[in-house]
Amino acid sequence: MGIEHADPTSPRGRRWQPEAPGGEGVEITRVTLTEVDLPLRTPFRTAHGVQHSKGTILVSVTLASGACGWGECAALPEPRYTAEWLDGARDVIVRFLVPAIFAAGRINDPERLNEIFAAVRGNHMAKAAVEQAVLDAWLRQANIALSDWLGGVRSEVPCGLSMGMAATLEELEGQLDSFSGHRYRQLKLKIAPSTTAGLIKSVATTFSGWPLAVDANASFGLDEPGHMATLASLDDIGLTMIEQPLAPGDLMSHRRLQAMLATSICLDESIERPGDIELAAVVGAARVVNIKPGRLGGLLAARAAHDIAVSNGLSAWVGGMLSTGVGRAGDLALASLEGMNRPNEIGESKRYFHSDITEPFELQADGTMAVPRGPGIGVTPEVDSLASVTVGSLRLSPDG
Ligand code: MG
Repeated sequence: MGIEHADPTSPRGRRWQPEAPGGEGVEITRVTLTEVDLPLRTPFRTAHGVQHSKGTILVSVTLASGACGWGECAALPEPRYTAEWLDGARDVIVRFLVPAIFAAGRINDPERLNEIFAAVRGNHMAKAAVEQAVLDAWLRQANIALSDWLGGVRSEVPCGLSMGMAATLEELEGQLDSFSGHRYRQLKLKIAPSTTAGLIKSVATTFSGWPLAVDANASFGLDEPGHMATLASLDDIGLTMIEQPLAPGDLMSHRRLQAMLATSICLDESIERPGDIELAAVVGAARVVNIKPGRLGGLLAARAAHDIAVSNGLSAWVGGMLSTGVGRAGDLALASLEGMNRPNEIGESKRYFHSDITEPFELQADGTMAVPRGPGIGVTPEVDSLASVTVGSLRLSPDG
């Protein structure tokens, strides 16, 4: 869809390299799970509920070479966004994924991780956390930045802002002022059927010229009284997209809705595997896709999803999960891919937390964020910061 590929001979224009980043491969000698809980600066309200803190599991992998890598589990405490939840993800990682990695011995190709995890169905967020940790360690050992290895072409990526539901325009403005939110390239508001079109229109008028999107988190139903009328009333505002208005598995209703709206529909919860994007494109269910490594099962699957979006003419961007710096670094590398042509939902650390566990990510004046340049994901949790939010840890090794 008119996307030109960068010079394949340039280091930043390198396309996906299927070969292993290090010729001798990796041998994993230890996996540590660190459970953290970071208070959010302000509660985050969506159609799924209200989140007051970011609880997650960090996975760190140590190689025989001594290299260490980090991944973050995107699962939420309750199975409302997807079927996964944090306690379940921990169980899957400890009882199934880590033993499978230890049993595999030396791994010579990152693609092997898909085979090693294949016996476990679903559980994409658990798999993605372990996969990022292994890739990070591997790339640190080989001294390659994740963005380069994935084939990224940008050193800075445009960032958009996702705001939880606000009851009034004044409440929203107060939140934006508290962290200088106006610098982002796009404002996205969480909505539910109870949200009035009047509030969205007043936001659009107040912030005229600032690209505006909405995200319903699957809370509407075409056959529910009044829902279609509410969605139709949003169509003349000039929104950049309406994200996931309907149930995740209901592509045909999204197709009906997209045919009725001038505004582009973006799919988030509906996209669980790369092939879902091709299906959505073929049936005309959306024009935009939100790509998240956790929902798709890892960076490799997310990269494949990006490629399918490009080849099917869909716009794409990287969505956020209120991640700590560990998850955010992986998201930034993914967002450096050429086909991520909309503002990515990657906020700076201070938008969410008083203190992040890595060095803080900051938004530049032009609404972009720099992609980490160091080996692997390019950041590492700081010992004191990590200790201050750790609520539990578990160390696993091949000999038990
Ligand atoms: Mg969403």
